[in-house]
Amino acid sequence: MKMDRRHFLSGSSVLVSAGALGATAGTLADLAGARAAEIAPHKYRLVATEEAFATPDQVQTFRHMAPTEWNDPDVVMWRGFLSNKPLLDRLLDLEHERLSIMDQTGVDMHVLSLTAPGVQMLDADAGTAMAASANDMLAEVVKRHPARFAGLASFAPQDPNRAAKEIERAMGKLKLNGLIVNSHTNGEYLDDPKFYPIFEAAVSQNAAIYIHPRNLPQHADDILQGALNLDGAIWGFQVETGVHAMRLIVSGVFDRYPSLKIVLGHMGEALPYWLYRIDYMYNVYTSRRPELRKIKGKPSEYVKSNFLITTSGVNFHPTLKYCHEVLGADNIMFAIDYPYQESAEAAHFMQSAPLPPEDMEKMTHGNAERIFHITPPAAS
Ligand code: MN
Repeated sequence: MKMDRRHFLSGSSVLVSAGALGATAGTLADLAGARAAEIAPHKYRLVATEEAFATPDQVQTFRHMAPTEWNDPDVVMWRGFLSNKPLLDRLLDLEHERLSIMDQTGVDMHVLSLTAPGVQMLDADAGTAMAASANDMLAEVVKRHPARFAGLASFAPQDPNRAAKEIERAMGKLKLNGLIVNSHTNGEYLDDPKFYPIFEAAVSQNAAIYIHPRNLPQHADDILQGALNLDGAIWGFQVETGVHAMRLIVSGVFDRYPSLKIVLGHMGEALPYWLYRIDYMYNVYTSRRPELRKIKGKPSEYVKSNFLITTSGVNFHPTLKYCHEVLGADNIMFAIDYPYQESAEAAHFMQSAPLPPEDMEKMTHGNAERIFHITPPAAS
């Protein structure tokens, strides 16, 4: 077997494996024993919006894929997860350690979603079935703990029509709170008109779609590996998910579905930082080639009107202050990225952000309640 750096790392180090999505061994230890001194005062109610779980079915699927010759970047990433028992235990747990960590760190609610790459590596039948069973399980857990959990439903873009049906079932009968998709599916992106039934269903159900990162398709991921392993959470995820968002914008998806809401983690996968340049160059390119212009507004206008971003994995006040300035307080939500990132640090970062209290109320919980149809606790 060809032994490249990534295979070496995934086989030899559980610490680096967890790092594929941003966690470290230290993170896992700190979470369980978060010291009182590190816990932020509970100034604002915290609804965390990108919090991962796994189902036993999903883990079993990757256990079958792991020993094969398939070296898709997500299979490689999952080999690491499978050898990292503390991480795997945390993904599989919903009602035990997770709740106690939430209690310890002052996190009121997790908006749960099936961890990457969700059901999107399976064939259409298996993916559709696994999405339905994961959604059933999620709905049960949310029903048992309505004050602590909300849930984003999975669907399998491999079969857009059945995905649309599952979206209707998950938002209707199961009363889940929104949708999760782990970016590309077999290298295809949702701007392809064949996926429009998914947007039709999302819009009709008033369901926001969280586009969560996954590893790039193999050919593109190869470019990012090299000596530094720039694939994964250090850079590859934000490149891949940012590209997905840009494709939706420039292809005209939001002129077709003006009420569609897309959520991006990681402070917007770098889009907010590039707004000026994107608009400027969009204008330059489409002036040269007017046939490329497919949208009514400037790209930045869609970022502001159709996207919300979350703070997952970016516990950094300068970035938050910048995003607050350019996108506004209505477009930002708190997220931890449990169990890949540390709850105590994220809670402390959010509670101590130097922004006006009325905006903090929105970003810590108000926007999440509005976008994900979460009933706020009764005023006491
Ligand atoms: Mn995540």
